[in-house]
Amino acid sequence: METPGHIFREYDVRGLVDEDLSDDLVRALGSAFATFMRRAAGSEVVTLALGWDVRPSSPRLRDALTEGMIAAGARVLDVGLVPTPVLYYACHRLETDGGVMITGSHNPPEYNGFKLGYRDLPLSGAEIQQVREIITTEAFVSGAGIREERPVTDEYCDMVASKVNLEREVRVVLDPANACGALFAGDLLQRVGARVDRLHDDVDGTFPSHHPDPTVDAYVVDLRRRVVEIDVEVGIGLDGDCDRIGAVDETGRLIRGDQLTAIFARDQLRRTPGVRILYDVKSSRALEEDIRAHGGVPFMWKTGHSHAKRKMKEEGIPFGGEMSGHLFFFDDYWGFDDAIFAACKLCEILSRSEMSLAAMIDSLNSYSSTPEVRIETTEERKWELVREAKEWFGERYDTVDIDGVRITFEKGWALLRASNTQPVVVLRAEGQSESDLTAIKLEIERFLSARGIAEIPWNA
Ligand SMILES: [Zn+2]
Repeated sequence: METPGHIFREYDVRGLVDEDLSDDLVRALGSAFATFMRRAAGSEVVTLALGWDVRPSSPRLRDALTEGMIAAGARVLDVGLVPTPVLYYACHRLETDGGVMITGSHNPPEYNGFKLGYRDLPLSGAEIQQVREIITTEAFVSGAGIREERPVTDEYCDMVASKVNLEREVRVVLDPANACGALFAGDLLQRVGARVDRLHDDVDGTFPSHHPDPTVDAYVVDLRRRVVEIDVEVGIGLDGDCDRIGAVDETGRLIRGDQLTAIFARDQLRRTPGVRILYDVKSSRALEEDIRAHGGVPFMWKTGHSHAKRKMKEEGIPFGGEMSGHLFFFDDYWGFDDAIFAACKLCEILSRSEMSLAAMIDSLNSYSSTPEVRIETTEERKWELVREAKEWFGERYDTVDIDGVRITFEKGWALLRASNTQPVVVLRAEGQSESDLTAIKLEIERFLSARGIAEIPWNA
């Protein structure tokens, strides 16, 4: 059977609902995933948890996928309409061999997709290609599977509530963007002791208010306004499937993922002094410095939630975070990225602190940085450019090459990395001052213009 290559991606399977995700293809994906799992587990019987998000297309995809999984002999435990962290929790709680979450995450409603997991980790890019290969060659196993309904949402809420203790009521605005967070996140925050003002809290999978991505300025306009308007301590936004968080301080400022990671790292280091904290290559030097200042050991790693979880598990790292708003909790938790748990924890941190959220952010070192800049190129050229940058800058400066190349200048750094999902080189730079940043940008411009790239959209 033919498989459109662009939908089998580095971290998940995702595409346009009407063009890419036909019933036949999704049924085949279900059978291929079950086949892959039976091989991986070395067992005739595999148990797979299944959850789906609020998108109008999700029930159709669920039915086709379930049919495929059952035909390949899987025992499917259907946990229902849930945010992604609840599906992750179900995989642990029900001791499944793996799981699938049907979600398009933060993308517009015409998209949907599948997050596939083996045991407690996401499938790697290579494993996703193996699943695709099973479809292409129609190498499905068959069997007599079954489907059972196993809701775990109530248990999940009890579990989160048992791990969060607010010392006083914290006033918060919550914006789940009509997506999965609107199912129960507001109630859970209320239950752990927050006073919650709710924005866009009716479930509507067409996302009529704004795209469910709370790390993008354009989609936190309502949240920022509301926080200032009714004078609360924090605004919290959740992405479409609640594995990423965005936060706004009491002055209405959007907090970046690396700053949020620093706030949670301080809390982790207070409880377990001296541990390592993981963060991705896009993060500010301010995060590294703050981890050190609080007695921790900074651990820089590749961008991407599956890379982070795998590494943290291998190395026994208790907490980590990414610029993108994925926060990972391994200490007294299950090791997955959970924005609902993070929201409750953030309220707990605020309830125990003498400092307001804005004061915490202001206590971090502040540097001048560019946003993430995207340079459009070709699939082959993106790897070449990064390889050439490694060579060129490697001869002149200290570089880190765990994911693309991060160049350490005397007064700042720059990152060039090939996007995992698009023909794009991602660029970011930071300087101690605005003039340091200008000098670094110039140096990057010189390197790129010698290779035929004249225009860099620094402020795009
Ligand atoms: Zn997401």
